[in-house]
Amino acid sequence: MEIKELCARAHNTAVEKGFYGTDGCGDRNIGEMLMLIVSELGEAIEAHRKGDWAELGMARKLYESSLKNDDYTRLFRDVIKDSMQDEIADAFIRLADLCSYMNIDIESHILAKMKYNDGRETLHGKKY
Ligand SMILES: [Mg+2]
Repeated sequence: MEIKELCARAHNTAVEKGFYGTDGCGDRNIGEMLMLIVSELGEAIEAHRKGDWAELGMARKLYESSLKNDDYTRLFRDVIKDSMQDEIADAFIRLADLCSYMNIDIESHILAKMKYNDGRETLHGKKY
């Protein structure tokens, strides 16, 4: 999936699930959206502290399985939900929704920033 598609899909799902009001056109509080992304990272560190780590390859296997609805949900909850990877995925999904909502071409910004970083000094001139 390309980044642009990820952003559109995350935003469309958020609209469908009512995060943009009943008509799907409601305004969002940008500060709240950013803090919800931070909260997912907070959940990720708690998962890491608990050693809650999904088995390597399990997400792809589950996603590509023929399981549907309740069976998919049940297995997802058993093997992935609340793992560190799941919380990082939540942060990405929320970031993708925000980028789509704010019409940010994040792929271009990531590429431009990485090229900029390539030219920076070791540790970007800082101690760590
Ligand atoms: Mg979460």
